[in-house]
Amino acid sequence: MKIELVEGDITEQRVDAVVNAANSSLLGGGGVDGAIHRKGGPEILAECRALRASRYGGGLPAGQAVATTAGRLPARWVIHTVGPVFSRSEDRSHLLASCYRESLAVAGSLGAATVAFPAISTGVYRWPMADAARIALTTVRQAGTAVEEVRFVLFNSAAYAVFEDALRDMG
Ligand code: ADP
Repeated sequence: MKIELVEGDITEQRVDAVVNAANSSLLGGGGVDGAIHRKGGPEILAECRALRASRYGGGLPAGQAVATTAGRLPARWVIHTVGPVFSRSEDRSHLLASCYRESLAVAGSLGAATVAFPAISTGVYRWPMADAARIALTTVRQAGTAVEEVRFVLFNSAAYAVFEDALRDMG
């Protein structure tokens, strides 16, 4: 699998599936979530509401992933995953790794060959970027998946540089 880093906006990626750093309500929020719903249009929210009314009545738990249409985005699917809120007193790394693993599993089951990820949990959920980058890159690299290309879309040059360093450290 090819791993690519780009600096940019996740809503502009021409890929099969774009991953949303959602919250467990699946009903929208700020950051990546807000941008995806704003640009993708109401179809995405309609499918999220249907998921809340069926499989995910209690919300989508942290570490899990579920797909909807991508609406008007230049992608076929949005894969919603809920990152853990960073905690200094409790190690939630397994949940962050699970977001990447489960999103790739959903992508694989859809037949998506190209997937774009944001840096999950590094915004409102406050995960330190370097640690999040290490977890993201090692998990994706170790995942057994049919996905051919994973693109990490970093929102600014600082985040891009941190991911670049983490990728280099992995050799
Ligand atoms: P979380 O709630 O999982 O922390 P956020 O959406 O708040 O998710 O932030 C996750 C990361 O995505 C942050 O590093 C943030 O700067 C970045 N980000 C915000 N908007 C976009 C966007 N449109 N495209 C790519 N990355 C974005």
